[in-house]
Amino acid sequence: MFKALVVDKNPDFSFGVRDVDDDFLPEGDVTIDIDYSTINYKDALAITNRSPVVRNWPMIVGIDGTGAVRESSHPAWQPGDRVILNGFGVGETHKGCLAQRARLKGDWLIRLPDSFTPKQAMTIGTAGYTAMLCVLALEKHGIGKGDGEILVTGATGGVGSVAIALLAKLGYAVVAATGKAEQEPYLRSLGASAVVARESLAAPGKPLQKERWAAAIDTLGSNTLANVCAQMRYGGAVAACGLAQGADLLATVMPFILRNVALLGVDSVMAPLALRRQAWDRLARDLPRDLLDAMTTEITLPEAPQAAADMMAGKISGRIVVRTSE
Ligand code: NDP
Repeated sequence: MFKALVVDKNPDFSFGVRDVDDDFLPEGDVTIDIDYSTINYKDALAITNRSPVVRNWPMIVGIDGTGAVRESSHPAWQPGDRVILNGFGVGETHKGCLAQRARLKGDWLIRLPDSFTPKQAMTIGTAGYTAMLCVLALEKHGIGKGDGEILVTGATGGVGSVAIALLAKLGYAVVAATGKAEQEPYLRSLGASAVVARESLAAPGKPLQKERWAAAIDTLGSNTLANVCAQMRYGGAVAACGLAQGADLLATVMPFILRNVALLGVDSVMAPLALRRQAWDRLARDLPRDLLDAMTTEITLPEAPQAAADMMAGKISGRIVVRTSE
């Protein structure tokens, strides 16, 4: 038997840590002893039943996990190998990693980089790996350090925190947009050179506004993304990965056709393995370990539901790592 955080609809929604056995696990060619998982925004949505993240019931939640291979019939993986799982529908359609054990597909796994501890890998998790995908998208678009300020929205969140730390380490001038004014010292410690109020971007705005940003990483969507696009400098690029404000986007085409602004969509869930490996290699190179450790709060499996509720209430800063041993 092992412990797993299970959500169910039988007939009403319920959640809790359950003792389950291997028969509860889905098909897969690699079984992993999970030692750390994490709470991402999507996990919080699933645990609190806020939006239809979970498609099969009952579901072990947890879109991220790391641990050692226990059994494998996949040619790439041997017992004892240390691996990372991010996304691929795990915790949504395939039972996930907020558990002491998971059965997954070997094709979904990447090797834990030697330079990260398992806990650090889960501090990064999907949030941090998505932040890196956003940075890679901006780099690919040709955004350079000398081009001007880069705006990061949802700054105290998981994606935002890692994005700020990465961009600052790479030499970009980073401006953090946050709803938590009291967290300005935290954001500056990550490398933000200035902080703006989230509210200044939250309401509907004009289609074209004063040109401010060379680039942006947006985790909020909705009016914020529309305003960010309207404030981009000529030739700027916005990497859009999130919807914490909303999934709607009431914008005009003006920034795109008059200022040559690029809107770059970023998905982590189905990103190909080559891009995942590139992102993790770059995280290993570019993410300062002291900042990573400073943004981490460690909890246990039974504490995960409360952390998910706190995340939905916007009370969390940084990243939550879940130690599965208890
Ligand atoms: P977090 O909960 O850690 O951070 C979200 C941040 O957004 C909060 O810290 C807060 O920042 C801000 N925020 C929260 N609620 C609201 C609101 N109602 N209106 C405006 N701002 C709000 O989440 P993550 O950083 O992990 O994820 C951010 C977004 O990115 C989510 O929508 C998530 O689903 C998405 N995502 C997408 C991925 C992809 O593959 N495309 C992968 C990973 C995440 P502050 O208080 O500083 O303003």
